[in-house]
Amino acid sequence: MIRKLLKRVFGKSARKRTEGKCHIIPFKVHGISRDGISSAALKVTDGLQAAGYSAFVVGGAVRDLLLHRHPKDFDIATNATPEEVRRVFRRSRIIGRRFRLVHVLYGEETVETSTFRRMTGSTEAETDEHGRLLRDNEFGDQEQDAARRDFTANALYYDPSSQEIYDYHNGYADICSGILRIIGDPVVRYREDPVRMLRAVRLSAKLGMKLEPSTVAPISQMKDLLGNVPQARLLDEMLKLLLSGHAVGCIKKLRAMDLHHGLLPMLDVILEQPLGEKFVMLALHSTDLRIRAEKSVSPAFLFAALLWHDVLAVWKMHQEAGERPVAALHVAMEEVLNRQQARMAIPRRYDAVMKELWLLQPRFEQRGGQRPFRLLSQPYFRAAYDFLLLRCESGEVDSQLGLWWDEFQDATEERRVEMLLPDETGKKRRRRRKSGVKMQAGLLEKT
Ligand code: ATP
Ligand code: MG
Repeated sequence: MIRKLLKRVFGKSARKRTEGKCHIIPFKVHGISRDGISSAALKVTDGLQAAGYSAFVVGGAVRDLLLHRHPKDFDIATNATPEEVRRVFRRSRIIGRRFRLVHVLYGEETVETSTFRRMTGSTEAETDEHGRLLRDNEFGDQEQDAARRDFTANALYYDPSSQEIYDYHNGYADICSGILRIIGDPVVRYREDPVRMLRAVRLSAKLGMKLEPSTVAPISQMKDLLGNVPQARLLDEMLKLLLSGHAVGCIKKLRAMDLHHGLLPMLDVILEQPLGEKFVMLALHSTDLRIRAEKSVSPAFLFAALLWHDVLAVWKMHQEAGERPVAALHVAMEEVLNRQQARMAIPRRYDAVMKELWLLQPRFEQRGGQRPFRLLSQPYFRAAYDFLLLRCESGEVDSQLGLWWDEFQDATEERRVEMLLPDETGKKRRRRRKSGVKMQAGLLEKT
């Protein structure tokens, strides 16, 4: 009882203190009502506040609501420690070892709830030799929590009970003017975490916000620091970028800022070939459309598209050196994937699907005998067909091929039989068999 009372008093005093230091924007100014918040997030803030803590919706959700966008999820920030949050909600669990936060579960929804944190001061901070923060896990107060966030637009705290927004860094004004501005000294903030440079590109493309000049200025000088970021984290951020629904905009920005060099070496290669660039941009554009239509997309499909022209070039080289088509394609795939592995570490878990998509491509050329029927029953047929359409659209293969498959898929059995082309590969195969040459399945000779 006394603890609850103390917490209530502490909660109130914390609120008073912040009121003195930050702008509090009332509902009648910003217009975001608590109805805009998911019911699970409201249960978390209400529950924590009833237990005497302060609790706010924070970060991307507040920003998105102010921009009239649909938030992806609702994150909560509170002065309660993870153990205290855990005690308030029966269905919750503490996750993360280095940075502990609580997942509170309500039906289908999981609400990520984190305790206010502060940036560790430079003297005590654990950084690597380039100044990158290795630890930012100390609890703090709301003001400190705001200061350690990346952009002013991402540092707004919405209290669903009072419907007020707490703003320490003029994020509200920046959002109203469509400006994405880093908090604090940009050089220091990028050194602490170079991934913020990529976040700047992604968020400005996705939200249609303009990067404020001093936020953008140091990036070209500092981009090499991305080389010190662990590969897994970079890949994570690249995936967010490619799957943001604004990949085309992001890639154009990355390119304009010279940020793709060394970071996405595959784009260096591809963007220099006219056909390759067109193909990549079409792939990214179609991914953007799918995401905006809330359809599923597979990272493997996207990576397969990004690397396709690399594979094509190596494949051609091996064929010209006398290798048979299927064998040459296998060698090309391995070569390209190994090269990628060393540079950007696409996890091997995507390899199998990427290879499937690539290996199925030459099989679309074979439109005689049983082959088209066998291809139709392949588990990856649909994705491989979408891949083929991109190749047609980019001008790499004749668009007639795409049209043929478009019709064949949905045709009646009679029509399918009518559509078949003379089965020349079959004859060649039989001839070779007769002459004792062992053939591999899925031949690549063109009809
Ligand atoms: P999205 O809509 O893509 O989820 P987001 O801003 O919500 O965008 P998250 O990665 O979900 O991005 O991060 C949640 C919040 O955590 C951000 O709004 C920001 O306040 C803070 N944050 C995330 N990454 C960083 C970072 N690298 N440095 C500082 N603060 C960060
Ligand atoms: Mg988010």
